[in-house]
Amino acid sequence: MSDRGKPAPDLLTPVQYLKGVGPQRAELLKRLGLCTAADVLFYFPRDYQDLSDMTSVTALQEGALVRLRGLVAEVDWRPLLQGRSVLGVLLHCEGGCVRLIWFNQTYLRDRFTMGEELVATGKVRMRGLVWELVHPEVQTLDADPGFTGGLLPVYPLTEGLSQRTLRQIVRSALEVHAPLLEEALPAELLARHDLPSISEALHGMHVPESAEMLARARRRLAYQELLVLQLALAIRRHQNEQAAAPRLAATPKIDARIRRLFPFDFTAGQREAISAIVQDLESGRPMNRLLLGDVGSGKTVVAVYALLLAVANGYQAVLMAPTEVLARQHALTLERTLRASRVRWDVLVGGLDPAQRRKLLERIREGELDLVIGTHAVLQEGVEFARLALVVIDEQHKFGVRERAVLKRAGAHPHYLVMTATPIPRTLAMTLFGDLDISTVRDAPPGRQPVRTYLAGPEQRQRWWQYFRRKLEEGRQGYVVVPLVEESEELDAVSVGEAYQSLAAGPLAGIRLGLLHGRLPAAEKQEVMERFRQGQLQVLVATTVIEVGIDVPNATLMTIEGGERFGLSQLHQLRGRISRGNLPGFCCVFANPTTPEAEARLRAFAETNDGFALAEADFRLRGPGELLGTRQHGLPPLRVADLRRDAGLLEQARQDAQALVRQDPGLARPELARLRRLVLARYGKVLELGDVG
Ligand code: ADP
Ligand code: MG
Repeated sequence: MSDRGKPAPDLLTPVQYLKGVGPQRAELLKRLGLCTAADVLFYFPRDYQDLSDMTSVTALQEGALVRLRGLVAEVDWRPLLQGRSVLGVLLHCEGGCVRLIWFNQTYLRDRFTMGEELVATGKVRMRGLVWELVHPEVQTLDADPGFTGGLLPVYPLTEGLSQRTLRQIVRSALEVHAPLLEEALPAELLARHDLPSISEALHGMHVPESAEMLARARRRLAYQELLVLQLALAIRRHQNEQAAAPRLAATPKIDARIRRLFPFDFTAGQREAISAIVQDLESGRPMNRLLLGDVGSGKTVVAVYALLLAVANGYQAVLMAPTEVLARQHALTLERTLRASRVRWDVLVGGLDPAQRRKLLERIREGELDLVIGTHAVLQEGVEFARLALVVIDEQHKFGVRERAVLKRAGAHPHYLVMTATPIPRTLAMTLFGDLDISTVRDAPPGRQPVRTYLAGPEQRQRWWQYFRRKLEEGRQGYVVVPLVEESEELDAVSVGEAYQSLAAGPLAGIRLGLLHGRLPAAEKQEVMERFRQGQLQVLVATTVIEVGIDVPNATLMTIEGGERFGLSQLHQLRGRISRGNLPGFCCVFANPTTPEAEARLRAFAETNDGFALAEADFRLRGPGELLGTRQHGLPPLRVADLRRDAGLLEQARQDAQALVRQDPGLARPELARLRRLVLARYGKVLELGDVG
């Protein structure tokens, strides 16, 4: 305690005791999530105002584009005849005065207050003896008096707290508390990557004197953030590798027996993925692998190979899908594949009747079932396996980190294979699935024909539907996809129902149409799917329930309505439904894009069929606000790092993290103690890292 009765400076000092705060402001700060001095130090600006590069009044030249900073010294609004007006604002700048002029901008009448500080940008001209800027762009500065630095930080605020106040609070915390921070990064890493110390970095974020200083500070903090994440992932991976798992042998005999079940040869990509998986399964350590590939590249076939390998070794295996429709789809595929085998399998989904369910669980527990296909229902309590060896999760992006953890407990360390529905950018894979090994299937099965995609306006409707009809009459099938109405599933059902009605009464009159949406009871959904598969229905009018996994090779036509309402990966996923066989596919998107981003997205979609290229394009197009949805995956969001901008830094952090964990899996060396604490505090729980070490 100091002699004034306040606690001595300490990083955990409650904000109330910081200079310039007190009980009332402490409440405001709490609303921003700021409770301690350390919180304030790590509360970063959302933006900066650049105050360098101001023009001095003494250097003004007729017609030049200038940026001026000054105080409002006079506001003069005058009505003119016929509703017109003129507004003059006299700005006191260093070295002289400048007049800002607006004509007929009534809404600006009360915009300015005396003494307010502004930055004005525009073309300057001399009128009489006064410099004038007509219709300049203006920004209120809200700077501390006398601020002369280069970049002025702009913080996210809450009502009752001004920029100026928050800046002062942050700055005094920097002075008093930043020196107390221990350096978390080992000196060797700082030197190798030429990174500033933590205290220099914090100064660079909060009071940058130049853009370079800010960039250096950001880089250091982004690196640290990525390193902490990659350490957590590397530790989790290391822990996985310590466990024992069943050894599953792929003898030539077993391999031949499995391959015989497929009516085609595997592609090179499939063979490569299978051989990596076989190595994992034979190792005696749990496999943790991500299978990445474009829609229709044949991932499911790879997964089925792995499932059958487990069964051939006398174990049980599970295939988990995100929806019931998909689970049943997988069941159908398996039924065909397994017709000539003795594998005992069944489907476990939510809506089974109790007696049926009890019987099923008993067979699973007694080991009378070799293979279970299901949804989330497989994770529920009461589902116990006799000897589970492998879990395959299809379309992982619908599941999250948490579900993975639950599954871990479901059996004594089964092997674990994840398939994503669509390609994801490399940086994202390294982040969201950074604890997994990755296999990529890049090639498509032979003979696959690309889909031709058209972006169409309303005037082309008639022609498209004529074409669509003609193809149906030639024996093909097709989909019509209607976007989700966001408010409720009920409304979705209505809007897709309306689309169905108007097609049946209009352009597709006389065609056998089916209707599919999320509100239908499971049995009905299944029946509609089945009739479509058998060709009794020619067209499915559907919401995005058909997005994942549906596999009807004869379906080669797709109409997407309201294309601007779909994300790029969703569009690609939809289109994947019609490139399943060896017939050419045709996709027409009706869209009314209202933003440049939506337009770019649709153009990219029409231009390429390459899912990996689309994934990267999507990633570039989306604003930083949407940053990769780490939250949906159960990971806390990144605060400084930006995976699009910091891809190189991410690679470095990942390599460093892997090297550190290889040498010292528990991060037990004294120079790693702080990093270790950061890792556990941020990721210990979500990634179930336990005590580490
Ligand atoms: P994904 O799960 O990657 O979307 P699937 O495994 O469902 O792809 O395969 C898509 C379609 O291609 C299926 O109809 C499947 O039978 C077929 N297929 C998969 N591998 C091959 C192959 N090597 N040769 C020919 N057809 C294949
Ligand atoms: Mg699939």
